[in-house]
Amino acid sequence: MYLPDFEYFTPNSVEEACRLLSQYGSKAVAIAGGTDILVKMKKEVMAPEVLVSIGHLSELKKIEYVPGKGVVIGAGVTHNEVMNSKILHEKYLSVSEAAHQMANNQVRNLGTIGGNICNAVPSADMPPILIALDTTVKIVGAKGERTMPLENVFKGPNQTVLENDELITEFVIPDGNFTGSTYIKFGLRASGALAVVGVAASVQMEGDIVKDARIVLGAVSPVPVRAKEAENFLRGKKAGEELFAEAGVIASGECRPISDIRGSAEYRRDMVRVFTRRALLKAVNEGHV
Ligand SMILES: Cc1cc2nc3c(=O)[nH]c(=O)nc-3n(C[C@H](O)[C@H](O)[C@H](O)COP(=O)(O)OP(=O)(O)OC[C@H]3O[C@@H](n4cnc5c(N)ncnc54)[C@H](O)[C@@H]3O)c2cc1C
Repeated sequence: MYLPDFEYFTPNSVEEACRLLSQYGSKAVAIAGGTDILVKMKKEVMAPEVLVSIGHLSELKKIEYVPGKGVVIGAGVTHNEVMNSKILHEKYLSVSEAAHQMANNQVRNLGTIGGNICNAVPSADMPPILIALDTTVKIVGAKGERTMPLENVFKGPNQTVLENDELITEFVIPDGNFTGSTYIKFGLRASGALAVVGVAASVQMEGDIVKDARIVLGAVSPVPVRAKEAENFLRGKKAGEELFAEAGVIASGECRPISDIRGSAEYRRDMVRVFTRRALLKAVNEGHV
């Protein structure tokens, strides 16, 4: 398993990176941490002639809190940086905890949040929690920039709405009214395993009433999916084990799992039922976002 030959560019800015991606068109791809792309190249799943490195760009490396806007996370921030960020611990601990559940230390040291999203693997760990927190993304390309909700970025397995010359530059988790959130994952090993099922939940509680809730299911549909019927069912009701168990049953009807080496469709659907209940309980009871 050797890497095929390729040309390698290290641009000095996002602008230059987009220009290179535009210039080389379908021959070129961006590389951030390389933990996905280099594996695919070694396995001959893809053979780009040009790699445009973006992992070193300082403009993609920030994690900052902007009052009135929210927490801004650069796409080139690694999972370990997300896991250890003081700002995220204070504002959105659930995001750091989701990063902690990913891969292993070596992969978390290199792999980036941008790469995790743009790879668009259904089992990816960061999309569910970021969507549950209503995250938006900034996309910059050779012809300009645009912003959209993260949940609209995914088109299918390994497919996003990004054009070839576009990069995600940052994620914004807006200042919201959520009182609790969490991501829980079931993998076949305690650590270093891809999700068989991943469920993120965020809640806005008023006393013991669920004023609002978002439930996002990972690894059980071609793209991360909101369990909107379950979310609607919860609104205005008194929180509790029974309510969340019912929401779990509804959510399990809202996914489209496949059977593969890691689990059957039936098993995954049943795990959605169980994990939705657990995620809602955790989001309500742990008292942090
Ligand atoms: C051993 C191992 C274990 C793993 N475990 C997990 C796990 O538990 N959970 C999980 O979710 N993933 C896991 N992964 C997958 C991978 O590590 C993550 O998806 C990681 O976040 C990818 O980031 P990267 O920076 O390495 O991406 P790269 O490999 O650099 O890029 C991946 C893709 O995204 C594109 N890209 C990268 N950044 C951008 C950007 N800013 N804008 C536009 N396109 C971009 C690239 O062009 C490429 O197509 C694992 C991988 C390995 C090798």
